[in-house]
Amino acid sequence: MQKFKQILNKGIFSGSDEVFLLEKQLGEYLGAPYVVSCANGTDALEIALRAMEIGIGDEVIVPAMSWVSTAEVVHLVGAKPVYVDTDGDGLLDLKLLDRAYTPMTKAIIPVHLYGKMVDMDPLMLWARSHNCKVIEDAAQAFGAFQERISAGMYGDIGCFSFYPSKNLGALGEAGAMVCKDASVAEKLKMLINHGQIHRDQHIMIGRNSRIDTLQAGFLNIMLPYFDDWQSKRKLLAQIYKSQLGDLNWLKLPNDLKSTSHSIHLFVIKTVFRDQLKAFLHENHIDTAIHYPLPIPYLKPYKVTCEFPKSLKISKEILSLPLNPWLSEEEVLRICEVIKKFKV
Ligand SMILES: *Cc1c(COP(=O)(O)O)cnc(C)c1O
Repeated sequence: MQKFKQILNKGIFSGSDEVFLLEKQLGEYLGAPYVVSCANGTDALEIALRAMEIGIGDEVIVPAMSWVSTAEVVHLVGAKPVYVDTDGDGLLDLKLLDRAYTPMTKAIIPVHLYGKMVDMDPLMLWARSHNCKVIEDAAQAFGAFQERISAGMYGDIGCFSFYPSKNLGALGEAGAMVCKDASVAEKLKMLINHGQIHRDQHIMIGRNSRIDTLQAGFLNIMLPYFDDWQSKRKLLAQIYKSQLGDLNWLKLPNDLKSTSHSIHLFVIKTVFRDQLKAFLHENHIDTAIHYPLPIPYLKPYKVTCEFPKSLKISKEILSLPLNPWLSEEEVLRICEVIKKFKV
């Protein structure tokens, strides 16, 4: 409320020092030399593709299992998404990349789904040897680091979302892109601001995807709390693990202690998913499914091939409540209810 009042009194709602400060703070936290904030995570992905000059006639490899944005943006730039099936954790299966590759493949978008990072060293090796750009969809992985390198910092461009329910969530819509190359950063800055290099000097066709100053201001307040929030997520996840570990009818997520998992979501798997979801709901515990259908099974994205692993997972996954504002007692209560579920 103080920040809102401060910005209201100042009367500057686009750009300004809040935005510069956010980009500086994000850069320090992520170890990113260049950060370009933008309006949301979907724009970040689309603008990243444009900056890499991906467009008509190009193919982009994306995982079948993700939030729809990952494939949507490929269509938006006129390119064709080529889907790959998942490994057991819902992440893109690196063993299937060779089969997805064609001479038209120009980029790959690995998604760090649920906050768990894709194994980035082999992915980068594969991409470089196939002359592919790498755009990381790190929307769910803010706070995840592999070998001390942040999610988003392996590829050519990393994309983040600060949608309210993400690990670092604004009080509205916001996003950011990170990169290591100064000329790429320049391009990203122009693309989010009508192709302007300086005011009224439009040297390319861009758009408006500037971040809202208020959201930048709110994120500047939240960022110092972020590590504590992450510790709380890890603690609650361990409670779930220790309480539910003995139930043989459900499968728990793994690698939760690793720094390369931001634990954005706590996703369990069971063949009794729909019954369990209903039972929890009757007991006033709401859950969600991320996601009920793999992208290539959604009507506008239909393709002729099958993605059996993604399809199977989509019928078994259930996201249990997890956020830093849940108490340990609440998580224990959720576990007690799950233990009462009769399979
Ligand atoms: C949230 C999310 C996005 C999109 O971010 P928005 O800020 O909602 O546009 C993209 N990809 C993944 C994997 C996401 O979870």
